[in-house]
Amino acid sequence: MKKHFKFQKLHGISPYIWAIFFILPFYFILKTPSTIGIVVGIMLNIVFFATYRFAFVAKGWSLYVLGLLLIAISTGYVMMYSYFYFAFCIAYFNGHIKNKVPFYILYYTHVASAAVAVNFSLILKKGWFLTQIPFVVITFISAVLLPLSIRSRKEREQLEEKLEYANERIADLVKLEERQRIARDLHDTLGQKLSLIGLKSDLARKLVHKDPEQARIELKSVQQTARTSLNEVRKIVSSMKGIRIKDELSNIQQILKAANIKLIYDEKGAPKHISLLNENIVSMCMKEAVTNVVKHSNATICKITIHQKSKEAVITVEDDGTFKGDHLSSQTKGHGLLGIRERLEFANGRLRIETKGGTKLIMSIPNDSSSKEKEAHR
Ligand code: ATP
Ligand code: MG
Repeated sequence: MKKHFKFQKLHGISPYIWAIFFILPFYFILKTPSTIGIVVGIMLNIVFFATYRFAFVAKGWSLYVLGLLLIAISTGYVMMYSYFYFAFCIAYFNGHIKNKVPFYILYYTHVASAAVAVNFSLILKKGWFLTQIPFVVITFISAVLLPLSIRSRKEREQLEEKLEYANERIADLVKLEERQRIARDLHDTLGQKLSLIGLKSDLARKLVHKDPEQARIELKSVQQTARTSLNEVRKIVSSMKGIRIKDELSNIQQILKAANIKLIYDEKGAPKHISLLNENIVSMCMKEAVTNVVKHSNATICKITIHQKSKEAVITVEDDGTFKGDHLSSQTKGHGLLGIRERLEFANGRLRIETKGGTKLIMSIPNDSSSKEKEAHR
């Protein structure tokens, strides 16, 4: 039983359908009066399915040979046994041919040969064939349409896969670019200055007994360099539009007060393991979330919680109004929610939105591993 279910899970019901297509011809073959006819029919049936199996994995010229052999057997079956339903199997196989040229060659050959075989059988007025006309028509229509629909579905799936891959690549490249920019800025400014400080303090150490006056001048220059470095670091951080969470909270307080919305602030452990860059990101996200509350929600209360967990900080902005957006997906009209999601994803965090009884934005951002290590060191 277990084996049976495992088999079915792997292949679905398709093996049973193929089994029916394999058994069905026997019904037609056995209607033939001659024994040779029956033997030939059985042999052809076995050859058909063996060829079918290999045609699926064939490439190059062998694909043409096997495909044409299938069409020939199918046509022979129509003429000899009035059995037309191999056309369905061939249509299914045609749809799975990857390359354009063999697909169209085998597709047109199959449709043409099927049409000729059907017309011949009609002209010859084979009684047994005429009784199955409705099924023949249905099979013929599927022989025409099925390959095209399978092919277009496969193409669409491939395109979707490519698009998804391209989007992932773009997101990765954007992250990489931003990280490289920060690394470059730090290297160009801080790196040089720190090595200068190293050199000058080394010189001052050597001069301290020999020439104290010169040592004093060198130390003064060290101090000067350290000061400019500090200024440059500040500039880098402010070029990232650096805002601390604390500063942003006081801005938020003022905005909500002006809009007559009550602020409830709940801090379960201040976010202490968060890097400066991530803190800026969170501040920008909080600002947008609160702007949305003021702009859209008609709320009377806005609750902000900050929860420092072992691996991440979770910040929620919640209101008691009503969510006005159409979707929670990224296809919103504005850029605010999308921007929050993208910023958080840039920092390997994520955004969740709940809209039951108001809007709740749950933003999580991972801890800065280096800051934790530093703390453990201390
Ligand atoms: P933008 O932020 O680009 O200026 P926006 O605020 O309309 O424009 P989003 O911030 O992405 O765009 O928000 C999308 C939509 O979701 C809004 O137009 C609004 O209908 C709805 N929405 C967002 N936040 C709230 C909220 N707190 N309460 C009610 N509706 C909201
Ligand atoms: Mg907005």
